[in-house]
Amino acid sequence: MNVKVIEGCISCGLCTEEFPDLFVMNDEGIAQPVLPQVPAGKEGEARQAAEDCPVSVIIVE
Ligand code: SF4
Repeated sequence: MNVKVIEGCISCGLCTEEFPDLFVMNDEGIAQPVLPQVPAGKEGEARQAAEDCPVSVIIVE
């Protein structure tokens, strides 16, 4: 499973606070995946983050 953050992140911090293993803030304060490939066992968390993002810019596929 891959994860990405598309354009439009509003820097709310939800994903980086709830799932710090999966997301970090970059220098511009925009969330980005720690790794493009979701680590084994973290797929549910990645899906949850995508669901919880208030502007739906987290894409898992
Ligand atoms: S939850 Fe969505 S809007 Fe909030 S920091 Fe993460 S990617 Fe950005």
